[in-house]
Amino acid sequence: MVDGLGQRTDEEIVVVGGGIGGLSAALSFARDGRRVRVLERADSFAEVGAGLQLAPNATRLLDRLGLLEAVQQAGVTPARLVIADARSGEGLASADLGARFRRTFGAPYVVIHRHDLLQILLTACQQAGVALETGREVVRAVSQGPQAHIECADGSTYAAHAVIGADGLRSALRAELHADGEPVASGYVAYRGALPIEQVERPHDLDTVIVWVGPGLHLVQYPIRRGEMYNQVAVFRSPAYAAGAADWGTPEELDEAFSAMCRPVRTAMPSLQRNFRWPTYDRAPVDRWVDGRAALLGDAAHPMLQYLAQGACQAIEDAVTVAQQFARHDTASAGERGVERALAAYESIRAPRAARVQRAARAWGDIWHIDGTGAMLRNELLRTIEDDDFSYADWLWGWRLPGD
Ligand SMILES: Cc1cc2nc3c(=O)[nH]c(=O)nc-3n(C[C@H](O)[C@H](O)[C@H](O)COP(=O)(O)OP(=O)(O)OC[C@H]3O[C@@H](n4cnc5c(N)ncnc54)[C@H](O)[C@@H]3O)c2cc1C
Repeated sequence: MVDGLGQRTDEEIVVVGGGIGGLSAALSFARDGRRVRVLERADSFAEVGAGLQLAPNATRLLDRLGLLEAVQQAGVTPARLVIADARSGEGLASADLGARFRRTFGAPYVVIHRHDLLQILLTACQQAGVALETGREVVRAVSQGPQAHIECADGSTYAAHAVIGADGLRSALRAELHADGEPVASGYVAYRGALPIEQVERPHDLDTVIVWVGPGLHLVQYPIRRGEMYNQVAVFRSPAYAAGAADWGTPEELDEAFSAMCRPVRTAMPSLQRNFRWPTYDRAPVDRWVDGRAALLGDAAHPMLQYLAQGACQAIEDAVTVAQQFARHDTASAGERGVERALAAYESIRAPRAARVQRAARAWGDIWHIDGTGAMLRNELLRTIEDDDFSYADWLWGWRLPGD
């Protein structure tokens, strides 16, 4: 419906951004029978051609949304998670992701092509009746009395009961709440490569997620798409960034950084996609995600370094939580303040949790990338962890929705 002001007013909730976080939120709301519209800036719903690790804190929620079977069919359920020394090649620690793991966390560890996950979410949103618009860049969204108002770069405007800003690292909606400027560059850069399995010279065990850790660098490798593709991500600290150069994290720096590593790690380098690189960013945690009827979600709220493989997992936790709080606070019948109360509850549940993950991701990166005596101590410690001891990760992978 378009009202006399030319605003669309028929949606209860507008979600800004159709990435993994935005589509998960839209689906969670739609599953509860709410009318939802997603506004996506890009011309299509798309993700970069790379893999994604989904830990049980996220797969448990995908199960709740009825998507786990499809996710497991499209992805790979690996048998092991291994940490190895990138210089010596020694395996340092291994987690058995089999039956005991699944019993402990109530869900599996899954690795999947990002595009495949986005397609599963998109199809589910379409089937659930979510209105999906592409080519809509939101420039402003504010809470005004009993409505949220949303303005797009093309002049279109929307009104809704609530607006969820799932617009990623450089969120326009976040800028309405926080004046914390540009994201923080880590000085590290990632090169990715998701290749047909037959093009990979020496894939590691095809049922394993392996993380090679070394001084100022790491390499992650795992199979995706039912084992038909192999995903590799090489990350290193750029000396040119540290020296203040404008062009940093070049392919030449990549080769130099990994040149002294063990053979299996060096072997991966030629199959990385060299024409595109991802400098990595995060932000310090903030405890304010909500202003009245406007709320942040996913990277817009808590951009984090990727070392715990949790950015998308946290976005999925946000998505299911915000819909749960709308249901709890009965926003349909609790009068004007129901939405504000639901969003305030969402913030109080999610902000401390995501802040802990953001901080731990920075610390985990330091541990992975340490050199010298620190690396020796790290390796000693990792060697002592039993492959069925998940106690160190329970706080992360064992998270449950309030009341579950
Ligand atoms: C190298 C690397 C590896 C990673 N590995 C993992 C992993 O294994 N597991 C994991 O859980 N996480 C991982 N992450 C993190 C994960 O990719 C992100 O945290 C996650 O994709 C964030 O999802 P999002 O929906 O919040 O944001 P995004 O994916 O950034 O989506 C935001 C969407 O909003 C749209 N948008 C932006 N601005 C506007 C606007 N103004 N108006 C309308 N639309 C807009 C964008 O086009 C985009 O579609 C990794 C990150 C990196 C860099």
